[in-house]
Amino acid sequence: MHLGNWQLDTIRGGDFWIDGGVMFGVVPKSLWSPLVPPDDQNRVHCANHCVLARDGQHTVLIDTGYGGPWAPLDRRFYSMEEGHPLLTSLSEQGIDPADIDTVVFSHLHFDHVGGASHNGPNQHVALACPTARHVVGRLEWQDATSQSNELRTAYHPRQLAPLQACPRIELVDDDDEIVPGLRARITGGHTRGHMALLFESQGQTAVYLGDICPSTAHLRTMWHTAYDLYPLDTRRRKPAWLGEASDQGWWILWNHDPGTAVSRVVRDPKREFIAVDGRPRL
Ligand SMILES: [Zn+2]
Repeated sequence: MHLGNWQLDTIRGGDFWIDGGVMFGVVPKSLWSPLVPPDDQNRVHCANHCVLARDGQHTVLIDTGYGGPWAPLDRRFYSMEEGHPLLTSLSEQGIDPADIDTVVFSHLHFDHVGGASHNGPNQHVALACPTARHVVGRLEWQDATSQSNELRTAYHPRQLAPLQACPRIELVDDDDEIVPGLRARITGGHTRGHMALLFESQGQTAVYLGDICPSTAHLRTMWHTAYDLYPLDTRRRKPAWLGEASDQGWWILWNHDPGTAVSRVVRDPKREFIAVDGRPRL
């Protein structure tokens, strides 16, 4: 899709299936399951819509999916795709990863950062976008690399090591401009340093909300994933983002929604917000 000077395209980071209780936290199954029917293992379908943004000056990738390869047990547990979905998707669209100058992470959970690296020749782990700046929220980077016991299972050292070795890692704070027309906005909620990405051009705006609102099934303001470490922040900040998107007519770029990569939202007297003008790809 075009957004002013930006050309925005969906890059697939790999679909997966994850426990419905993980995706909807304290929301009773009787409420979420009619919207998102689970499989026979109580798992729900998650897409991984990474965003490639080009404006003639910059080529930016938002999030990288889960990458690969994964052990057979992990692949079965999440029904992950084989290979490296991000690199496959870039190749299918004729995009050379070396042409991507900026990679931005909403946060550093496995399904967002795993595709940033791959096994090169001789099993040497290399960055998937070898020449790009890699941009992370400062608080997210502190937490992910803290090795604190309570965050141990949230961040995979194997995925972070190539970034820790990367001389082009850049840490940003709230409202920092990443490139002209793309701004970092720290949301917190899902993780302490989780960030949304705000694209603005020629009076049009699109926001990538990451996992603070991962799908159109999470539009209810009290609904969020069990992974959210600061749920009250999600409950405060998500409605503010959705309200502004609704009132200003912004596009929302959905991260994990299997049927909708982009939509607008409008206020609804019964359901708070509903998605309109949805499309399966950008
Ligand atoms: Zn996620």
